[in-house]
Amino acid sequence: MRLQNKNDNAANRKSYVGSIYNVGERDVKNAVLNSIPEEWAALHRDGYIHIHDLDAYGLTYNCLTFDILKAFPYSDFTGLSDIKIILGVFDFLKELFERVGNEQSGGMALANFDNDFATIFTKLGVDYHANEEVFRAAIRDLILWCNNTHTRMGQTSYYTSFNIGLAENDFARFLAFTLLDEFYCAGELIYKPNIIFKVARGISRFPNDKNYDLLMKALTCTGKKMIPTYLLCDCEMDKDTSPELLSIMGCRTRVVADRFGKIGAIGRSNIDNITINLPRLALEAVCDYPDAQPNELLEKIKEKWLGVADSVTEILLDRFHKTCRQDVDLFPTMKKYDLLCENMNKSELSEIFKHGTLSIGFIGLSETFDVIYRGKYWEDAVIYQAALNFVSFMRDYTDRQSEKYNLNFSLLATSGELISGRFEEIDQKKFKSDIFGKGFYTNSFHVEVDSRISAREKIEKEGKFHSFCNGGCITYVELAEAPLGNPQGLDELVEIAIKSGVHYLGFNYPKDVCADCGASGTFDICPVCGSTHITRIRRVSGYLEIEDYFTSGKKHEAATREAN
Ligand SMILES: [Zn+2]
Repeated sequence: MRLQNKNDNAANRKSYVGSIYNVGERDVKNAVLNSIPEEWAALHRDGYIHIHDLDAYGLTYNCLTFDILKAFPYSDFTGLSDIKIILGVFDFLKELFERVGNEQSGGMALANFDNDFATIFTKLGVDYHANEEVFRAAIRDLILWCNNTHTRMGQTSYYTSFNIGLAENDFARFLAFTLLDEFYCAGELIYKPNIIFKVARGISRFPNDKNYDLLMKALTCTGKKMIPTYLLCDCEMDKDTSPELLSIMGCRTRVVADRFGKIGAIGRSNIDNITINLPRLALEAVCDYPDAQPNELLEKIKEKWLGVADSVTEILLDRFHKTCRQDVDLFPTMKKYDLLCENMNKSELSEIFKHGTLSIGFIGLSETFDVIYRGKYWEDAVIYQAALNFVSFMRDYTDRQSEKYNLNFSLLATSGELISGRFEEIDQKKFKSDIFGKGFYTNSFHVEVDSRISAREKIEKEGKFHSFCNGGCITYVELAEAPLGNPQGLDELVEIAIKSGVHYLGFNYPKDVCADCGASGTFDICPVCGSTHITRIRRVSGYLEIEDYFTSGKKHEAATREAN
């Protein structure tokens, strides 16, 4: 048998353990599909839906924002020197990422890296003034660890997200500043962890806010490295939630409302999520009713969507209940360090996981409305309104399911990863349409990447969709090249985004790095040394990755992008 390492996941690298994992993963996925009702498995196999992280079905949840303060093991560090405490605390964090990263299937986040670690070090009696160099070295080391460590499943990096920006005191400001500075100064090929900067009125948004200088530092870093991205706490959907409770985990997951009173992301998870292939429903409707008017088609698509969504609800619930029946010993780290909002030693898993979200995602809104109306939603007011109404319709459904099952259902604007290519590939074999040819479907509600509309217009058009997508979403501004040295220009776009309802904002641009001399820019031949040995870094599914490791659909997307 020849072991193959198939790059289903953009972050994968080759290794022996990884190869073995891939073989096992494929078998487990098939076993899961064979164990659930045939009609559910068929929906997945036929490309109506994608059940994410199928191998984790009923075994574990998706992602988590750590409740890091509740049970921090202060006693492990008492009596040590400052240097040993600083190194020890960050080593402990790495250990948490490594252990929890193998107990769950998705991303791990810290909601307030700056404030929380300032609190931890202060309680341990460590001051930053006397230890600035040690902190810098330790934080640099932490960044390199997040970027370079591929021990998850023997092949993959840990999906780590550090939310910062609300720093309340000088110590916390120092930690935020140092994280940004070390990330900025780390090599051009260092593109993890995800750093998310929280922009909030009275804290970090306006020139007279205390942390406005941190925002400028963050935007300067984004101009060089595409990281951080921006959590806009004053936007329509988040303005009534305390900013410190907000946190992005993984690529875009948003967890805020809770039917059981634990508002915000801290100590909470997305349990599972399934994405529905919207263009499929439109292509089918056009086939079934070739003479129907757009409005009639739209009604047919809604009917079809409800049918699929009812099955998706059942699958999400089945997976949720199976996960709740697992042995608590499958989560030793969560149990030991009490990282969830309820104590694992005292509560049934169902009492803990009920605080998590069950998300129904969607992809290809743009292509869907192109099929119905023969036009792009951002170019036509009628199509745009219909697209908004459709997303609102999906959200009404997830709200109804929350009531019906007394669980936190949410609507997710899915990022894509391998499914943008998978859905399109399957649909191309069944239908004829000019929405094919790009090699992928556009992620979530996004304007298509080759649209050539202005950044402002893209933000304003996409912004209206954000409030509906309570399970997570992001708007990207696509730039032609790195906006080096122009943080004010990016800040203007941040302001437009807040006012347009955008809750989470990122900036993309092509980033090519010369593998021989390290020069960075946008080029096929290095302008400094003439080398053609070029490494391309692109954001494809919420994370930056080296292009060689992309899945085929995402390679097409990166190649199709146009700046706006
Ligand atoms: Zn060069």
